[in-house]
Amino acid sequence: MTEHVALRVCVACKQKKPKEELIRLVRIPEGKIELDPTGKRLGRGAYLCKENECIKKAIKTKRLERTLKRPISQDIIYLLNQGVEK
Ligand SMILES: [Zn+2]
Repeated sequence: MTEHVALRVCVACKQKKPKEELIRLVRIPEGKIELDPTGKRLGRGAYLCKENECIKKAIKTKRLERTLKRPISQDIIYLLNQGVEK
């Protein structure tokens, strides 16, 4: 038996990666999009690599909005950009 690794697809580059290597965004029941650092929040999720390129691409192409069917607030975009500047 192979070891089970939960793979998720990045919305920007479409590559499959282990959950831990991705940023999770979640649409909470109230309809807002929030970052989910724990990866355990309830709601529809979208995954993104922690790569500068993927974050920029996802914002530019509105891939996150399309996946989650909600607008992404400027706060979240700011936080995502902050995350990559490190
Ligand atoms: Zn990616």
